[in-house]
Amino acid sequence: MKPQPPNPTHKRMIREKKTITYMIDLYCKKHHKANSGLCLECQKFKEYALLRLDKCPFQDKKSTCGKCTIQCYKQDMKQQARKIMSYSGPRLLLHHPVLALHHIWDKHRKAPVLDRNK
Ligand SMILES: [Zn+2]
Repeated sequence: MKPQPPNPTHKRMIREKKTITYMIDLYCKKHHKANSGLCLECQKFKEYALLRLDKCPFQDKKSTCGKCTIQCYKQDMKQQARKIMSYSGPRLLLHHPVLALHHIWDKHRKAPVLDRNK
């Protein structure tokens, strides 16, 4: 697949951002208990995650980040993503079942491979 231009208004990308935002919220509320909103660490992670989505070369054709053939996250951010996903993944089904079902569905898509020959 050729790299796709950023497509932040596509409904798939909007949904991806919602899903990751809810997952970070759930995780932070339980583990960090900031007074309002997210703690600094999770806020930074969220900005990073949203930026990666904007720069994702697959855009609306992507699978889920966990299955991706590129894995664009930096090592420490990847660790953090893993912690957040393993906590919030199952809980998303209770709190936001529609998003969770979409996420499960996306996971069953074949992860596209980036065509590097221009
Ligand atoms: Zn936090």
